[in-house]
Amino acid sequence: MSSKPPLDILLCAPRGFCAGVVRAVDAVERALALYGPPVYVRHEIVHNKYVVEDLRRKGAVFVRELDEVPDGVAPVIFSAHGVPKSVPAAAAERGLFAIDATCPLVTKVHREAQIHHKRGRHVILIGHARHPEVEGTLGQLPPGAITLIESLADVERLVPADPDNLAYVTQTTLSVDDTREIVDALRARFPAIVGPHKEDICYATTNRQEAVKRVAPIVDALLVVGSPNSSNSQRLREVAERAGCPATALVLRAQDIDWSRFGNIRRLGLTAGASAPETLVEEIIDGFAERYAVTVETVSTATENVFFPLPRELRGEAAE
Ligand code: SF4
Repeated sequence: MSSKPPLDILLCAPRGFCAGVVRAVDAVERALALYGPPVYVRHEIVHNKYVVEDLRRKGAVFVRELDEVPDGVAPVIFSAHGVPKSVPAAAAERGLFAIDATCPLVTKVHREAQIHHKRGRHVILIGHARHPEVEGTLGQLPPGAITLIESLADVERLVPADPDNLAYVTQTTLSVDDTREIVDALRARFPAIVGPHKEDICYATTNRQEAVKRVAPIVDALLVVGSPNSSNSQRLREVAERAGCPATALVLRAQDIDWSRFGNIRRLGLTAGASAPETLVEEIIDGFAERYAVTVETVSTATENVFFPLPRELRGEAAE
């Protein structure tokens, strides 16, 4: 008989890679296979150090800005978070071979912002300052055409030039509940404001938060596998905390776990952000199995079957 204490792990589903992340990572791998290294990638292709290091070993070169990419024929890939319009324009001017791996659901937000602008509306963007997706969305329109807000307090502070001619868009990886409150506040202050049917939070963010809401109230602790700079992973940890889970943590991988925090737990919830690979979830289950007599049960709140084809430049050969 095992002398280890028992531990039930409730595995949230859906969790981990979303369709946009699969597409972006596949794009880098396909470009490496087709053109050979180096393949330049502007910004972390997705916010996960494990994924980035793996691609770096295969020949991807990650840069912060385009001016770090030398002139030549090597491809340069734009990350899943999207880029300001100035970036593809600068790449075209230099004759670089640019491949855009922006998630189609982020591109959809860019289009919404452009349409509102064309119709003469001032755009309010709900999102987190300095996140690359927000930088990319802000950069779709001329300076001053979008106002970024992050909180209910920001809604109160808004003094638009024409309150009857506003629209809003949102970052795709926000907290569903926080965003609903902010949208309600916007609608209360500016009844004529125009926006998407619900908000622009993507299916993957919504589904992962729903699964956490189901599991968090019935476990002693909940672990989110993901990078600290991953917005959707951070939101999952917050959602678990708000749903009443007594101990929550965001960890990149098993070696980062502070095991002393999990001494007396009997039930653990486990999920992964949209940029965290399943292998890291398995590694963490193995880590717990070394210390506990583990049983694993999946708690599923949705089924996902979203798929995005590779960027056009990589498709023909990809079909081989
Ligand atoms: S989290 Fe959503 S918006 Fe971001 S890459 Fe994944 S599917 Fe696209």
